[in-house]
Amino acid sequence: MSEEVRVLVAEDHAANRRLIGALLRPLGFELVMACDGREAVERFREDTFDVIVMDMQMPEMDGVQATRAIRKMGSRGASIPIVALTANATEDDRRRCIDAGMTDFLTKPLDPRALHATIIRAVAVSSGLLAKDAGDDGAASSAAAA
Ligand SMILES: [Mg+2]
Repeated sequence: MSEEVRVLVAEDHAANRRLIGALLRPLGFELVMACDGREAVERFREDTFDVIVMDMQMPEMDGVQATRAIRKMGSRGASIPIVALTANATEDDRRRCIDAGMTDFLTKPLDPRALHATIIRAVAVSSGLLAKDAGDDGAASSAAAA
């Protein structure tokens, strides 16, 4: 991953968009912002990204609806990693994310290191550099096994 990682950020709250920008841009990520789910689907249709960070609760189309729409957009839509942002860390919420086709999820308030690590992992998995089931523990143990 020597090239810039292009991230589509779908988040309706301006303060959260600013925060995500402040956390990721200094690390070399290239960000495109969308203010709701519908805009996220449009941005994805017209541009190429490595990963999407998708808020669950947004107007127009929520994160689940936008993810379902993107997953139907051919092989590009089927394969893009989508990391959900959710205010709820419940098992029910996690299941809704997974059922919608999301790759992983992060809970708010955002932990900067978790944001960075989850995005990097999602891109590494979709690039075939890391096994799909390698979570934080899995990554450590497979590295130890190698
Ligand atoms: Mg929201």
